Amino acid sequence: SDPETSAAEEVPHEPDTSLRPRRMDEMVGQRDVMERLKIAIDAAQSRGEPLGHILFDGPPGLGKTTFATVIPAEMGTVVQMANGAGLKAPKDLLPYLTNLSEGSVLFIDEIHRVPRAVEEYLYTAMEDFRIDIVLGEGVSARTLNYELRPFTLIGATTRAGMLSAPLRDRFQIREHLGWYADSELCEIVRRNSIKLKLPVDDESAAVIAARSRRTPRLANNRLLWVRDYAQSKANGQVSGKIATAALDMIGIDKMGLDKQDRGYLETLMRVFGGGPAGLEAIAHTMNVSSDTLEDEVEPFLLRSELIVRSRRGRMMTALGYQHMKQLPPGKL
Ligand code: ADP
Repeated sequence: SDPETSAAEEVPHEPDTSLRPRRMDEMVGQRDVMERLKIAIDAAQSRGEPLGHILFDGPPGLGKTTFATVIPAEMGTVVQMANGAGLKAPKDLLPYLTNLSEGSVLFIDEIHRVPRAVEEYLYTAMEDFRIDIVLGEGVSARTLNYELRPFTLIGATTRAGMLSAPLRDRFQIREHLGWYADSELCEIVRRNSIKLKLPVDDESAAVIAARSRRTPRLANNRLLWVRDYAQSKANGQVSGKIATAALDMIGIDKMGLDKQDRGYLETLMRVFGGGPAGLEAIAHTMNVSSDTLEDEVEPFLLRSELIVRSRRGRMMTALGYQHMKQLPPGKL
């Protein structure tokens, strides 16, 4: 709807899958998580057992799906990809479960969206490698029992709190993926710029990293845009100045906030007097879904202390006002 929003910003998922690491040692950062996973993989392999079920949680774009693809690669096995939103009824699970080979991985992204009725089938699948499905109703109902091959379920969620305790407890390994350091994002940008055959210098990498909201997916998106910009406006030469101009042009500010992030802060400031305001009210005013705000916008604003969440709602902080170059009410 905003004609100035660039295509690079609108691509919700990986615009270039060639940038996704294929092996664990191609991944940058998340060292603690990586170390624990390597131990678990080693142990499972030496016992000749499937790896325990793993749950990843954390904001979007921090590597949950990437882990779900590199882990099976390390184990020399295959992975099936499913999405919690697509598993509406127990029968939707069947194709995945019956396709499992011994020791293979089933990845369910957005696992918090699996409805309770389907979740219950996951319990026995995870615990006993078995499912009992009831077909039909009343006197003609039949139960089908499937033995499953031992497998590993990898779940990913942006909302660990929305998972029921029985489901959460069935994951032996639970890992939270946190924000990346600037130096790690620089490393990702440098490596990927080489893959894209447009190596960037340290200064450009630092500009892109600093404006990527601590998120590898955004670092990749920003890098792709800077590449387009450089190829069309600067004969393919990238410098700190060019990277800055490219990102300024699509409304990415020094902190890495995009138009939607700033739109949120604007709304909270101007319409709600800095808050407290409810998430739904902010979402309605901005005409976006509250899920989008809660998953994609608020985590970084909270982390950067530009807003706080209280029982009464969201509030701007002094830092938030400062970033938006406004004075807090009462200080005019
Ligand atoms: P999530 O599933 O958490 O939303 P993804 O795993 O899809 O995030 O990550 C988005 C992209 O960011 C990946 O395709 C990959 O290119 C990049 N990425 C994520 N984590 C890393 C990492 N640790 N090292 C290098 N690149 C990463």
